[in-house]
Amino acid sequence: MSTTFEPVIGLEVHVQLATRTKLFCADLVSFGAEPNAHVCPVCLGLPGALPVPNEAAIDLGLLAALGLDCTIHEWSVFARKNYFYPDLPKGYQITQFDRPIATAGQLDPGDGAIVRIRRIHLEEDAGKSIHDRFGDRTAIDLNRAGTPLIEIVTEPDVQSPAHARAFLGRLKQTLEYLEVSDCDMEKGSLRVDANVSVRPAGTTGLGTKTEVKNMNSFSNVERALAFEIERQTALLATGGTVVHETLLWDAARSEARPMRSKEESHDYRYFPDPDLPPLRVDAARVARASERLPELPAARGARFRSQYQLPAYDADVLCATRALADFYEATAAAAGDAKAASNWVMTDVLGWVNQHGIALADLATNPQQIGALIRMTNDGRLSSSMARTVFTEMASTGQSAEQIVAERGLVQVRDDEQLRAWAEEAVAGHEGEVERYRGGDTRLLAFFMGQVMKRSKGKADPRRTTELLKELLDG
Ligand code: ADP
Ligand code: MG
Repeated sequence: MSTTFEPVIGLEVHVQLATRTKLFCADLVSFGAEPNAHVCPVCLGLPGALPVPNEAAIDLGLLAALGLDCTIHEWSVFARKNYFYPDLPKGYQITQFDRPIATAGQLDPGDGAIVRIRRIHLEEDAGKSIHDRFGDRTAIDLNRAGTPLIEIVTEPDVQSPAHARAFLGRLKQTLEYLEVSDCDMEKGSLRVDANVSVRPAGTTGLGTKTEVKNMNSFSNVERALAFEIERQTALLATGGTVVHETLLWDAARSEARPMRSKEESHDYRYFPDPDLPPLRVDAARVARASERLPELPAARGARFRSQYQLPAYDADVLCATRALADFYEATAAAAGDAKAASNWVMTDVLGWVNQHGIALADLATNPQQIGALIRMTNDGRLSSSMARTVFTEMASTGQSAEQIVAERGLVQVRDDEQLRAWAEEAVAGHEGEVERYRGGDTRLLAFFMGQVMKRSKGKADPRRTTELLKELLDG
């Protein structure tokens, strides 16, 4: 019988912290700026320049650690990780090594398959080498050098490529809720390295792993892991061995290729940075960070289900971002109808922003106005199709539903006399259809309704019109 293998995955996620300035100097963090415009003696590593920790960055690191249920350490240490690379002007990176700021956290991706967080540490980013813009030369842009990052390292608890994707999705969502990073993968604000090995199913030991780098989207992480699991499984199944190495994911060719072998990887000669004292985080500082903790996605989703009686699907969609969840709650409050607010926000509001490629914050209308629109519909002043038209106007002009209804005379007609007159006209002009209806083809009711709507320019109250038409046709 042949052995089956199961994957074991651990993730290392680098996240750029949303600070104005760098980790150890006052240069601006600025994506897309003129190359080498935001550099100074500290991030260039000029002799005698002294690093000074950015307290705002440390606070964001603490917030992330709290949001991921970590234990925060009173003392942590900034070390120098020494290596040579052209985009590392100092010849070392300042990072936390054996004494990170936080350890032992966890995150539930949503399905109960919890992933433990081994550690979170603070570190500075390197600059950028640009290989593809100047012919066969490489250019260096040091604007990014010194940008504050946290690295989040998981235990090898991730069980499949899909589990990795779910975890990363929840992690990104959580970091966005915490507002510690914009998490924009296209700008490199969130970068993932994936460690993967396989082992005979049901065993508990760890096999030799490889590390896959250079994946710029979650779907690439998923594809790269699937590729690597298949490759390692095939190797082991045929009596081969996995080589401990670092691989680069080539999305265009859908394959992971060796970057460097770990055997020949350098010794980083870590040592505590002599220019930086140990970082002390006392209980008062942790308490201040806790005060900034928002309600996190899982808790908010659970509250939406119980407080607003929403199905799990609606709660998940509405809690996708903090801005959307806030928008929904304000709409529900203004409408006094949580379920209707959910339908309007999920269908019309999200439909509009997606179709127009705008952010929720740039929508011309707002929750108060949408709430008023929902009230007008619930009161019977607007039919649902009229309300949709009114919403489109609100979203394009920013006018309130009241204004639009008044200016366009859009209020639903519920006057019985008027409705009966239209119904009679509709029936009178179509004897053939009346005969077929009375002969049993009751689907023709929709035809007569269409006639009334045409005469009323869509304003007839559909419920009352149906009743009147039935009286005329059946009676
Ligand atoms: P390295 O020294 O190669 O960086 P670490 O022990 O620091 O390895 O672990 C880095 C990441 O790799 C962590 O996320 C960890 O959970 C994961 N990991 C460690 N060993 C394995 C393994 N055998 N298979 C899969 N993932 C692993
Ligand atoms: Mg590593």
